[in-house]
This record gives sequence, structure tokens and C-alpha cells, in this order.
Amino acid sequence: MWGNALKIARIRGFDIKVDASWFLIAALIVWSLATAYFPTELPGAYTTTLVASAVVAMLGLFASLILHELAHAEVAGHFGLRISGITLFLFGGVAEMQSEPASGISEFWIAIAGPVASLCLALAFWFSAEIAEVTRSPAPAIMVLNYLAWINLLLAIFNLLPAFPMDGGRVLRAWLWTRSGNLLAATRRATTISAIFAYGFMCLGLIAAFSGAMATGLWPILIGLFLLVTSRTALAQLETKTALDRRTVAELMTRQPWTAHPDQTLSDLVNRVFLEHGISFVPVVENGTLLGYVDLQIVRKIDRENWTTTTVDDVIESVDAGNTVPPQLAGLDLLSLVMKTGRRKFIVADQNELLGVITLSDVLAYLNVFREVAVPTS
Ligand SMILES: [Zn+2]
Repeated sequence: MWGNALKIARIRGFDIKVDASWFLIAALIVWSLATAYFPTELPGAYTTTLVASAVVAMLGLFASLILHELAHAEVAGHFGLRISGITLFLFGGVAEMQSEPASGISEFWIAIAGPVASLCLALAFWFSAEIAEVTRSPAPAIMVLNYLAWINLLLAIFNLLPAFPMDGGRVLRAWLWTRSGNLLAATRRATTISAIFAYGFMCLGLIAAFSGAMATGLWPILIGLFLLVTSRTALAQLETKTALDRRTVAELMTRQPWTAHPDQTLSDLVNRVFLEHGISFVPVVENGTLLGYVDLQIVRKIDRENWTTTTVDDVIESVDAGNTVPPQLAGLDLLSLVMKTGRRKFIVADQNELLGVITLSDVLAYLNVFREVAVPTS
């Protein structure tokens, strides 16, 4: 998701990265502050003063967002989770954790740390603004400090909305998780509640757009879509991880699959195996020894009129590390192999002995059943 993020710094071992979309937001913030918000606060000020104040305010917001994410990262580190980096993007920031929290308690503290940091920043900026006022500091400085106090307060409140995977949604999930002891059931509940917020945001956006405020209406719609996509992705990832955890290829594969003989002609293979049993991938075995495989793609490369004269042996794809997996391979590792190589069908073998065949469809079929029955819905 953050493929085009630019690395700008390294703080306490974390890479701080900025996604291209954040530059757009930074420009929008400077523009709206300099042309709309600050001119009403400082009537009669020079344009250069307004633009300079807007840039300083934007940088202050930038630093505030990073401190918010650093707070998450620090607490996560305290609970032994590794953080690979912090990325700022369109909707704020994200601390990339390399694994999920181990308990509801740790998830609660990691999630709440960000809004608490924003709240502390709001107080600090408010206090600084008060001091600046008492010491009669320049008006633009007081204005920027006040703006940063308000924006951090808003950030804290907005992030505390119980819409998973925002901070408040994670706090909610932590509570549900601690109460039920079931992370997957808690995530499902939190995702459903998040969807209600997402549709609510989108409705508000549509109402605003139809009443003429097109640009204002766009934001809630985007936030709603973002919530829907991120919460569902997080849920799907967790379902996959839970379902395939401790499952091996041997448990998920098709045992005793149909096989082909090297002397078989392609027309015989197509009619007696592919069409007869509705399959498109078969291991080739001779006298109990696994030689390789043939599939529909290989056969289709041969002209149909040559199918009666071509044998399986002529087109066989030999066994190698790329198309064969051991039975003890973890289900999750198989899935990452599929993602990495794009290959969807594998032979399962021990030395040269054929044990079975495993396809992406086998894994997905299992995931579907798991989703339907393995988790209580409340
Ligand atoms: Zn946060």
C-alpha cells in the first residue's frame, strides 16, 4: 500500500516515511490556512506573513502526526512488538507493526497511546499560546500555536471514534477481545461497527455534496471508503491467519490424486483424465516414482491434431523446487508462496514419492468453510 513512500528520517530505529498523497494534503493545508482560516484570524496581514504562518502550522501538524505515531510505536515496543516504520499518508499516519498484539491489554495500551499523545500536544500548544499571549509575542506565533492546539485536540477526538482500525476501534476491539477471549470474533464485531461509521460518513458526505458543498462532502466519503476497505482487509488477513495457523499442506491437500502415465497420449489424457474428472493438473507417475506434472496450459500449447501422436513424456514438466512442496509446509507459507510466485497448483511429495496435489482452490475452499462455521459470531 505504501510502495511509493519517501523515507525522510530515522528516529529511534524507525523509518519515518511520507507517502506521495501526504504532499497533496500538505499543499491543501497550506492553501486553505493561508487563504481562508488565517486571514479571518489576522485581518489585514501581509500575504507573505499568512503563507509563512501556514507553512509553519503545516510543519507543526506534520511533527504532531509523527509524535502520535511514535507514541504507538514506543508502547508497542514496550510490549515486545517490532515496528518497521511510520508512514504518513492521506488520512494521517500509520505505525507498521510486524505482528499483531498478543493480548487485548497490550492492544488497548498501544491504541490509546496515540490519542493520549495528541491530547498532551494539544495541552502543550495551548499552554504555549497562553504564555505567548502573556509575553506579548507576535500575533502570527500565537495564532499558529492556537491552531496546533485545536488541530491536536481534533485529532485525538477523531482517532478515538470506535471505528476499527482507527485507534478508538482498536480500543473497542481490545475490550471485546478481553471480554470474549476470542480475537477473531472481536475483530468481526469491531468491523461491523466500523462499517456503520463508514456508511454514516458516506451519507454525511453525500448530503453535503448534494447541498452544494462538493469539496467538503468528498472528505467524509473518502474516509468512509477508507474505513470499509482497511477494516475488511484486516479482518480477512486475520481470518486467513487464524484458519491456516498450525495447518499443514498434508492436511489441506487432495490425497491420491488422478495421475498420468508418461506413455499416455495427450488425447487420452484429455478425454480420460481432464474431461472425465474435471481436473486440469495431474502428476505424472511411473512405477510409483514421481516424474513431474502436466496441466491444461501445457497441453493447449500443442496443436490439437497432434494430440494423438504426442505423449505425456514429450511435454512433461519435471519435478523441481518451484512446483513441488513438502507435506509439512505450513498453510500460511503455501499462501505466501502463491502470492510470491503466482503459481496456484503444486505437487506434494516426499523425496520422489507422490503424496497429493494442493491448489489455491483447495486452500480457499477450506478458508470459506472456516469462515462459515469455525468462529462464534458473538
Ligand atoms: Zn493513532
